[in-house]
Amino acid sequence: MQTPDQDRTAEDQFQPIARRIERLALHLSPGRGMALLSGAGEQLRMVECVRGVPRLSVETAALSEYMRGKHRDIQQRVFEYFSARPELQTPIEISKDDHRELCMRQLHGLVREAGIRPFRYLLEDPAKYFAFLEAVGSVDLSLGIKTGVQYSLWGGSVINLGTKKHKDKYFDGIDNLEYPGCFAMTELHHGSNVQGLQTTATFDPITDEFIINTPNDGAIKWWIGNAAVHGKLATVFAKLMLPTHNVKGVSDMGVHAFIVPIRDLKTNETLPGIEIHDCGHKVGLNGVDNGALRFRSVRIPRENLLNRFGDVSRDGKYTSSLPTINKRFAATLGELVGGRVGLAYSSVSVLKLAGTIAIRYSLLRQQFGPPKQAEVSILDYQSHQHKLMPMLASTYAFHFATVYLVDKYSEMKKTHDEQLVADVHALSAGLKAYVTSYTAKSLSICREACGGHGYAAVNRFGILRNDHDIFQTFEGDNTVLLQQVAGDLLKQYKEKFQGGTFTVTWNYLKESMNTYLSQPNPVTARWESEDHLRDPKFQLDAFRYRTSRLLQSVAVRLRKHSKNLGSFGAWNRCLNHLLTLAESHIESVILAKFIDAVQSCPDTSSRAALKLVCDLYALDRIWKDIGTYRNVDYVAPNKAKAIHKLTEYLSFQVRNIATELVDAFDLPDQVTRAPIAMKSEAYAQYTQFVGF
Ligand SMILES: Cc1cc2nc3c(=O)[nH]c(=O)nc-3n(C[C@H](O)[C@H](O)[C@H](O)COP(=O)(O)OP(=O)(O)OC[C@H]3O[C@@H](n4cnc5c(N)ncnc54)[C@H](O)[C@@H]3O)c2cc1C
Repeated sequence: MQTPDQDRTAEDQFQPIARRIERLALHLSPGRGMALLSGAGEQLRMVECVRGVPRLSVETAALSEYMRGKHRDIQQRVFEYFSARPELQTPIEISKDDHRELCMRQLHGLVREAGIRPFRYLLEDPAKYFAFLEAVGSVDLSLGIKTGVQYSLWGGSVINLGTKKHKDKYFDGIDNLEYPGCFAMTELHHGSNVQGLQTTATFDPITDEFIINTPNDGAIKWWIGNAAVHGKLATVFAKLMLPTHNVKGVSDMGVHAFIVPIRDLKTNETLPGIEIHDCGHKVGLNGVDNGALRFRSVRIPRENLLNRFGDVSRDGKYTSSLPTINKRFAATLGELVGGRVGLAYSSVSVLKLAGTIAIRYSLLRQQFGPPKQAEVSILDYQSHQHKLMPMLASTYAFHFATVYLVDKYSEMKKTHDEQLVADVHALSAGLKAYVTSYTAKSLSICREACGGHGYAAVNRFGILRNDHDIFQTFEGDNTVLLQQVAGDLLKQYKEKFQGGTFTVTWNYLKESMNTYLSQPNPVTARWESEDHLRDPKFQLDAFRYRTSRLLQSVAVRLRKHSKNLGSFGAWNRCLNHLLTLAESHIESVILAKFIDAVQSCPDTSSRAALKLVCDLYALDRIWKDIGTYRNVDYVAPNKAKAIHKLTEYLSFQVRNIATELVDAFDLPDQVTRAPIAMKSEAYAQYTQFVGF
């Protein structure tokens, strides 16, 4: 390896800027770049490892059109609004208090000046709402989360857990921000275990009110978004207690949701009986005012019970269409998946942003090179491609999977079909967990791929990483969510053997469980041709085979261990196995949706590009898990080698069209505004930023 200044020609040393601009032109406009490649001599050639790899021609505009979907207009409105109001853009350095106020002003501006009505979209056209959420999140993730708290969580709980009277009373105020609100579920002692909440709502039949009470410090509502400063009302989750004539005096009907005013609508004063504290400066998302709430016998009218799944009559009688506490609890949580859908969707958008910055910079940045020749772009190093190209492929894969999730969510909201509700619940849990974990890891990789400059706050990785990190925890901790996916799979597996049916996303297991559980075919285990490895059938079969094996083997292990350990102990004994199963299943769904998206793409050049990216996604995943496939001889040793070689080759090919692939995300400079990745001015913005 050469040291940076060795063997560089005199011309290189005196013309670094011109050379960089030429190189930049190479990846900005491929047509011109290819002409330069043949005409301008060695300095613009790719390094040896990439030479000879055919380059697809990609129509960025067509690919972008296919990717954007139907709700680009609303995103455009958001970006245009912030372009016209630079004073509303979040600066790099900002105090917690200023950031909170700025986020509130940003949201007010969007709703009251730009005339955007997020709550209407959420109800009438969820895909439009999620597109809006994606755009505001890419401007500032704090704004995205503040918006999500107001509409998905506070608004969503009122509309989905309440009935017509609640909608009539609160809809407009939530929509136009006259009623900024909170979603108060988590307590100091209980986060994931929602059924363990201790806040109580006791019915007083004399006054026809509920009394909301925090019985101990562990029951203080904690981390509640919008509570520290701006929230005026809150949906509070509490155990509904009804007076009885037995010894205990009350009967616990399980966790229900109640609307509790917390601040005066006009003066913003905290209301009597309510104590609010600030959760303080956080690792990220400091534009969101998270607070802690304590209730000291706060009285609210009976009608403030969000009574869709359970109601209390004037004389204190409880009624519900659902027979048990567990069923009511499941139905309640089932209605709250909107927040999770939004997080999965927005997480993909963070991945797009970070990948765009890292890839643009990696094309521009040159370090080292062959003896006596120009330095090469760092993206021409195999190791760099290995870091970024499968990530780019995964971004595409997640994009289509989350678009599918949003479609299913919208359909579920229209039809309320029971199977669809179950499917969306498991799919949103699995995708939220899988995608946000992947993005969190990738943000560190992107930072590192940009070297020291990746560490400058202005280049965004640090802020994105800090803000996004908690996506892995809120709206359901990822490890807990994956267990729900595994539990659901096992339930369906059991039902299958009792003659039951699978929900849509699980259908593949029903159709082919027997095929997948038979011994691997020793003939196909040796097929190594590129055509075979790039055949979607081979790829999907491999993913599904792995899921089916994991499902069957964990079912056997659970049965065995529960005899001695009981069901809780057995589950814990098999926990890692169960998490792997859930991830494997989600990967199978992601690949299936990606393959569908490739096949449905109407533009030939875009379809070819997507096919390439999809193959890289599939083979990279198979290669990463090659031990599993080898262990059971699903792939023979030479086939494993062929998969590895082809994966590297596909990475080179994807690298060749990386510019078009990130351009197709169509993110405005305003959100990929990291100076190191600015298309038009290259490093100039960056040097200006530090004062030259
Ligand atoms: C910035 C921020 C904003 C938030 N906003 C809100 C809000 O607006 N409203 C609201 O109600 N809540 C909010 N929360 C709370 C959030 O939803 C919870 O933090 C989350 O549900 C996780 O709960 P926990 O923190 O109690 O973690 P815990 O449940 O205690 O988890 C801690 C660790 O234990 C592991 N663990 C827990 N149970 C299991 C298990 N069964 N198996 C294996 N591992 C397990 C988890 O994986 C995790 O690593 C917010 C939190 C933050 C940090």
